[in-house]
Amino acid sequence: MKPKHEALNQQIDAIWIQFRADIGAAFNAAHAVQEPAGVDPGWQAMCQHWGVAPISAEERQQVIAAQKPLRGAATMEFLAVVNAIVKTHRIASKKIDSWDTHSSVEAKHTRLNGLLERTDTELITAYKGAVLPKPGGMFAHAMAGAGAGPKPAQTGPTTSTLSCRGCGAPRLNTTDLICAYCDQQLV
Ligand SMILES: [Zn+2]
Repeated sequence: MKPKHEALNQQIDAIWIQFRADIGAAFNAAHAVQEPAGVDPGWQAMCQHWGVAPISAEERQQVIAAQKPLRGAATMEFLAVVNAIVKTHRIASKKIDSWDTHSSVEAKHTRLNGLLERTDTELITAYKGAVLPKPGGMFAHAMAGAGAGPKPAQTGPTTSTLSCRGCGAPRLNTTDLICAYCDQQLV
């Protein structure tokens, strides 16, 4: 039989890896929807998988009018899917008792719980940044650009700037230099 701390360490790693994969898949599926606040087969399957009912046609029209998204699944639906993912892994994490084991295992468990705590609020902000128009619009853009040198052509956010190249998880925060999910440096 394996020592207790090794088994716990593996359980924590397993939740961490699955959580990261689930979050990455949900973010990519939501962002891949071409029609603003729309639905495509990939997103529909994602909602079904996590038991999330699509918003009504009326709510969809309200979201489009209020948020004027450029693309991507409706933020309400994305948030519901993220909440379902976080809840599933929070329940799994709570079942792990890392108290009275190696301090490194306990520290890792604490980090995983921290990641589960911060993901929903930070990820929805990151998602809005990726699918909603930038605040300020053209005027703010023109002012910011006054006197500045030539900029590279705007191609819009790409998946590589939105996600970590190491693990594929979405970037939680544009100011993060290290991926919260795998510790790799973000470029
Ligand atoms: Zn990563």
